[in-house]
Parts: sequence; C-alpha cells; structure tokens
Amino acid sequence: MTETTYQLAVMQFKSEICCCGDRKVPRQSFCTRCYLSLPQQMRKPLIGTYGERFELAYFAAVDWLTYQRASKCIGPRNKNSKETRENDENV
Ligand SMILES: [Zn+2]
Repeated sequence: MTETTYQLAVMQFKSEICCCGDRKVPRQSFCTRCYLSLPQQMRKPLIGTYGERFELAYFAAVDWLTYQRASKCIGPRNKNSKETRENDENV
C-alpha cells in the first residue's frame, strides 16, 4: 500500500461526502445507509483502527459497496446488459 492511497482513505474519512455521493458525518467512514448495508465483519475494523489496517478495511468496504450498487443497477435491466455484452463481442 502506498502513502497516497492511505491519504485518500484519511481524506475520505474526514470529508463530509460519502463514497456514494451522499452527505456523511466527518470522521465516520461512510454515511449511515452505506454503513448499515455493510456486513458486520466489515464494519468492525472501520472503528478504532488506524494506519494500514484502516486503509485496507476502508477500501475493502468501498469495493463491497460499489459492487452492491453496480449489481443493483444491472438487476432490473437484464435485457440492456445482454445487448451491451453482444455489442462488446462484435468490437
Ligand atoms: Zn454512503
């Protein structure tokens, strides 16, 4: 892990905007909605953890939330995503 990604994690931690774009309380990793949607074992290391372990936990949680959002978006539009895949194969 580089210092830059750690600084990014700390910047996000201190900011008022969650990774989902909603407002959050500074010095909390995520907004309430994102935080509550995280599995229990991912929430735990976000509190009272500093340094590289916080960074790893934070980015793991961001990845998880991004994946959850993406799969929810694709869900109701199965037809479109299939068409997109066919177009990709033609390229
Ligand atoms: Zn959020």
